[in-house]
Amino acid sequence: MDVNLPEKYRPIIDAERCIKCRKCIRECSFGALRFEDDRVKYNGGCVSCLRCVTICPTQAIAVREVDPQFTPHPVFDEKVRRSIIAQANSGGVLLTSCGTDKEYMDIFSHLLLDAAQVTNPSIDPLREPVETRTYLGRRTGRLPMRDGKIDIEADMPPIISMDMPLMIGHISLGSVSYNTQKALFSAAKDLNIIAGSGEGGLHKDFYGFSDWVCSEVASGRFGVTADYLKRVSSVEIKIGQGAKPGHGGHLPGEKVSELISEARMIPKGTDALSPYPHHDIYSIEDLQQLISVLKESTEYKVPVGVKIAAVHNVGAIASGVVRAGADFITVDGLRGGTGSAPRIIRDHAGMPIEIAIATVDQRLQEEGLRNKVTLCAGGGIRSSADMIKAIALGADVVMVYTAALVAMGCKVCQQCHQGICAWGIATQRDELTKRLDPDIATQRVTNLFRAWNEELREVIGAMGIDSVESLVGNRDRLRYIGPNHRIAEIIGVKHSGEGWG
Ligand code: SF4
Ligand code: SF4
Repeated sequence: MDVNLPEKYRPIIDAERCIKCRKCIRECSFGALRFEDDRVKYNGGCVSCLRCVTICPTQAIAVREVDPQFTPHPVFDEKVRRSIIAQANSGGVLLTSCGTDKEYMDIFSHLLLDAAQVTNPSIDPLREPVETRTYLGRRTGRLPMRDGKIDIEADMPPIISMDMPLMIGHISLGSVSYNTQKALFSAAKDLNIIAGSGEGGLHKDFYGFSDWVCSEVASGRFGVTADYLKRVSSVEIKIGQGAKPGHGGHLPGEKVSELISEARMIPKGTDALSPYPHHDIYSIEDLQQLISVLKESTEYKVPVGVKIAAVHNVGAIASGVVRAGADFITVDGLRGGTGSAPRIIRDHAGMPIEIAIATVDQRLQEEGLRNKVTLCAGGGIRSSADMIKAIALGADVVMVYTAALVAMGCKVCQQCHQGICAWGIATQRDELTKRLDPDIATQRVTNLFRAWNEELREVIGAMGIDSVESLVGNRDRLRYIGPNHRIAEIIGVKHSGEGWG
C-alpha cells in the first residue's frame, strides 16, 4: 500500500483577486488545480513550476513552500525520508532531472579575481581592443614556416573560430522540444558560437544551422548518419556526462513523439536508452579507432572531440583522450544538468568542475599535451563570474546548459523527466511546445551570452589583459577564500593574501 508523501509546495489563491478566468487550471500541465464550487481548488501535485503565477492576469496566485511535515532530525532529514518513502512505494530507481541540488561546496564562490593596479595598468574595453575570439579544435602549438616565413598554405587541422569562449552544451531534441532546440541553434548562429546537438542526430529542419552545430556521437548512435556528420561544424563522442557519469542516455517513452522517433530512428513511445559504455570502446586504442573513423567519414574537415564526465581520475583519462587524437576535450562536472537521470548517480557520483578543470589542465601541461588540444568545461556554470574563473582555472571554452534554458523561462523545477514541462521546454506535447516562442527564446539566450561576454571583456580589461587567451590557466589571477585550504592546493590557487610569484 502506497504512503502519501506530504506536499512540498502549495498554490495559494487569493479569492478577492481571482476573476475566475481559469487560465491557471488550463496552463497547469501537472493537473494541480481544478474549478469547483465556483472557485479554483488545489488537487495536490504542485511542483512549483510557477506557470500559474506568471500567467494569472490579476496576480491572484502565489506558490508557497509548505512548512516541513517531517519530525526534525539531523541525519534522517526530510530529503532522506522522502526518498525512503518514495522507494518503499515504488520499489524502483528514483529519477530526477537538472543538476544536483545537494549542497556540495560551490568552489567558484570561494574564488576571488585579481585586478590591475599601478604597475600593470588596466585596459578600458570601451577604448582599447579586448579580444574574446576563441578557437575550437586541435592546436598545433607552432606556426608552419617555409623559407623563414609563415606558410599560410600548409595543411593545418580544422579549427572553428567563435566570437566568445562560450558554447551551448549538448541538449538533445527529445529531452527538449523542437522550438527549444531551434532557439538554441539560432542563438548559436547569431552569436557565432557552437551549440551541441545532444544525442539523437540533427533534425532535417535544422540543417540550415549545421555550421554552428556540434554533433554528438553517443553510445546508442541514435540518428547518426554519414550524411549529417558531414554537414556539421564539429563532432563529439560522448563517453560520459557530468550529471550521470558511467550512464548512457535515458529518454523516457513519454518524450518519444513522432518527431523524435523520426530523428532518432526508433519506434514512437519507446524509452530511448543508450548503453552505459560504447560497445566498441574498451580501451584508449578503441577510442582512437572511433576518432579516426569519424575523421575519415568527415573527410578530415571538422574537429572531432570527446566528452567525458569529471570523475576521480579525470586527469589520466583526459591525457589518454588527447593521445587518442581528440581535437578538443570536454570535461563535464558534477553539477551538470540532465533531462533525466537516476537521482543516486546525479547526486553522488563525479567531481566538481572547478577541481576537474584544474586537474586536467595541470596533467596535460605536465605531459606536454596542453597546447595540442582545446579544453572545454561545463557543469553548473551560472554566471559570467563562473565562466571567467573556469577560464582562469584552465578552460579554453566554457559550456553552458541550464543557464541557457533559464534564460528562456525554465524555472529549474527538476521535472523534465516527466515530459510535461509547463513552459514548453522539456516536453514533446504539442499543446505545451507551442508555449515557447523560438524567436523570443533566441533573443533571450543571445542577450544572456552577449552580456556575459561584455562582462568578460570588462573583467579581463580590469586585470590588464587584452585577450581571453592570456587568461586561460592563469591561476595566479585567482585567490581562494574559503574553509578548505586543501582544495586551494589541489586546484593550484593561492590563498587570498598571498602575493604573486
Ligand atoms: S502551474 Fe505549476 S506552480 Fe501552478 S499549480 Fe500547477 S504545478 Fe504548481
Ligand atoms: S525545463 Fe521545464 S520541466 Fe525542466 S526544470 Fe525547466 S521548467 Fe522544469
